[in-house]
Amino acid sequence: MNQCWKIAVIGSGPAGFYATGELFRQKSWEIRVDMFERLPTPFGLVRGGVAPDHQKIKSVQKIYSRIAENEKFRFFGNVEFGRDIFQADVMEHYDAVIYSVGSPADRALGIPGEDLFGSHSATEFVAWYNGHPDFCDYKFDLSASNAFVIGIGNVALDVARILAKTPEELAETDIADYALEALGASQLKDIWLVGRRGPLQAAFSPAELREFMELADAEVLVEEHALELDTESQQLLETEADNDTKKNIQLLTQIQERELFGKKRRVHFLFLTSPVEISGKDKVEKICMVRNQLVKREDGSLGPEATDEISEAEAGLVFRSIGYHGKPLPDLPFDKKTGTIPNECGQVKDPENGNKLRNREYVAGWIKRGPSGVIGTNKQDAVETVHRMLETFLNEKMEAGKNCNNPDIVPLLENRKVEYVSFADWKLLDAHETEAGQKQGRPRVKLTSIAEMLSVIRQKNN
Ligand code: NAP
Repeated sequence: MNQCWKIAVIGSGPAGFYATGELFRQKSWEIRVDMFERLPTPFGLVRGGVAPDHQKIKSVQKIYSRIAENEKFRFFGNVEFGRDIFQADVMEHYDAVIYSVGSPADRALGIPGEDLFGSHSATEFVAWYNGHPDFCDYKFDLSASNAFVIGIGNVALDVARILAKTPEELAETDIADYALEALGASQLKDIWLVGRRGPLQAAFSPAELREFMELADAEVLVEEHALELDTESQQLLETEADNDTKKNIQLLTQIQERELFGKKRRVHFLFLTSPVEISGKDKVEKICMVRNQLVKREDGSLGPEATDEISEAEAGLVFRSIGYHGKPLPDLPFDKKTGTIPNECGQVKDPENGNKLRNREYVAGWIKRGPSGVIGTNKQDAVETVHRMLETFLNEKMEAGKNCNNPDIVPLLENRKVEYVSFADWKLLDAHETEAGQKQGRPRVKLTSIAEMLSVIRQKNN
């Protein structure tokens, strides 16, 4: 009898790697992990989401690479769940599976004009400048002089900062070459960050805000009365506000008091404002916005309520950055509202079957809890899932190898002619990109097409 548990992990972002690391930490269980990833490259949003000028954050890849060195680990890149392998395959080949596929879609504003050319999701723009193969052909009209970024979370600040940076600042990063060229020719003058609530409710972190004070050729502005807080917000600031919120208010105050130097670009923080319509003939030309006031909601928090104060501004580009959203996976339950797979502590449950728990299917990361938290948040999240899985194995008296037919997945992939990429293959690609980067004084030069990635791997293996 095979005493080694075989676990499939779908998705190679932080949650998938933290779950794998936790599985390998178990001393009393012998566990093998096969990780499947639809791109030839691992690390999910660490490669395709974290901003190219945030290389320190990307250093978590070293931790994930160490986990991948475990002899009980195999990586199958360029294998898409729902195209190359399916839920039934995973159930047949593995004792259990952890889906850690993240939240690849975005949320819509639901206002007229949102589909005009020039109105984009932050998700698309972020994936484009990070060289994600699915987005490398996207076009953004950077001949515009005004861009509006809707939402004031950390992703919105990433978008605004990348738009505001000079070609020299961007050239030090691993931003995709085509994005470097396009942004280098950008005519943008004013970038507006639009928050529907006040500065106290902003979702960005102080470290991200502070970076705007250090931009080479862009200054940052906070509208005149923005920091005159309403009574409720002022009370919150004095009593319940956390350190990050207090720090944000201090930084915004410093920004307001700073001298202006007439730099090439300006980044404006606009609070208590919501877009109501985006308009233009064939492309975005104008944005219509309404002023909000804060009102107490049933749960005690302060929400935005539209006033009758409407304003209109010229706009060539609009980015909605109001949160990511999960996508359903074939043969798995899905909660459309939250964009997550319904689960109890990471164990998948079936709402259409009386919330029955599935003993061999688990979730970790954003597809489990929704798109919140920093990279490290996924560690505790994945640990919870792994422990739930092991407890279930014990409680249900499940035995390794008895829950599936237990064949190896490789013959199936070969029969289906899937050109999968191993971790050793990825390391060849990694070396290729970093060597190209070294020649230009950059962390790496990214390959952005799957065909090119596979071709480099084939060449290096010959
Ligand atoms: P987020 O932090 O949830 O921020 C979403 C923003 O969109 C909020 O300002 C929210 O305002 C606003 N919003 C939501 N619905 C809206 C609507 N209908 N109209 C106007 N505004 C709306 O999401 P995110 O920025 O996508 O970031 C996702 C996660 O990744 C976060 O946990 C973030 O901290 C993390 N992240 C971290 C870093 C970093 O650490 N450097 C970088 C990028 C991302 P309300 O508050 O009013 O809802």
